[in-house]
Amino acid sequence: MKPAAFAYAKARSLDDAIRLLGEHKGEAKLLAGGQSLIATLNMRLSQPSLLVDINGVAGLDGISVKNGMVEIGAMTRHVTLERSSDIAKHAPLIAQAMPHIAHPAIRNRGTIGGSLAYADPAAELPACLVALDGEIDIAGPKGKRSVKAGDFFKDLFETALGTHDVLTAVRFPAAGTETRVGFAELARRHGDYAMVGLAAVAKASGKSLSDVRLVYFGVGATPVRARKAEDALARGSVDDAVKALDLDPTSDIQATADVKKHLAGVMLRRVAKQLLGEA
Ligand code: FAD
Repeated sequence: MKPAAFAYAKARSLDDAIRLLGEHKGEAKLLAGGQSLIATLNMRLSQPSLLVDINGVAGLDGISVKNGMVEIGAMTRHVTLERSSDIAKHAPLIAQAMPHIAHPAIRNRGTIGGSLAYADPAAELPACLVALDGEIDIAGPKGKRSVKAGDFFKDLFETALGTHDVLTAVRFPAAGTETRVGFAELARRHGDYAMVGLAAVAKASGKSLSDVRLVYFGVGATPVRARKAEDALARGSVDDAVKALDLDPTSDIQATADVKKHLAGVMLRRVAKQLLGEA
């Protein structure tokens, strides 16, 4: 299919982008990598009157590590994260997730900001950011604000972003010597969205884990924390953690709810091995 007609504007700055969004009162959409947006336009799931291209806006991309925090600009492409030595060293969870996101051609264009703003419930980066206890920086007509990743994803494809807001950056603690991460997903074909996936972060001292954060994707409308399983894993029992899983997935095009529940347990056993240093 072809998209409905739309106008196009290239934003010259962040303020310019916010102004353009405001002038079109909810009828305009930001264009980042275009890898999700263009498909929704082509299928006429979305019919904005204006696309505001933020690809040329200075200061929206790049990776920095300072004061124990990793900051990533919204327009940083997936491929940049995948190849970054800073991400490999200071954000190993993101590094593990990257090869699972789509295919190289899509990773060349897609951005972290686009992925978080689009908020597909089966996407990897939203779950990683919740697992990392990250923060999301937003700029809008009333100024700037930061939202915890755990509060950012509101419902299916719904986030804390208003229609005139721009997601500008994300920030999360850099991995320390005690940090362990785990990542597992099952997709029908490599590069497809996950049927079920799990992103995890913990502190490890030998075989003992604390501050465990287990965040599933593909099992609900948003990333889903498995808090009872987190507690059980911190108490030392993988079997109890699997028993404590109280996910309530709905069946979708990928799998039935029962299959998803079973796979969630399988993913947990794999991730637990990574957290315990056995994989
Ligand atoms: P766009 O498509 O440009 O934008 C997406 C939405 O976010 C739009 O509504 C746009 O207005 C909004 N937006 C973009 N940037 C901002 C911003 N800075 N502030 C506010 N709003 C913004 N993703 C996965 O996570 N896992 C996968 O396995 C996966 N598989 C894919 C397979 C295929 C075949 C395709 C085509 C895509 C796949 N994707 C997958 C999606 C891909 O990761 C996209 O790049 C990503 O979801 C959107 O990023 P984008 O930069 O392309 O955003």
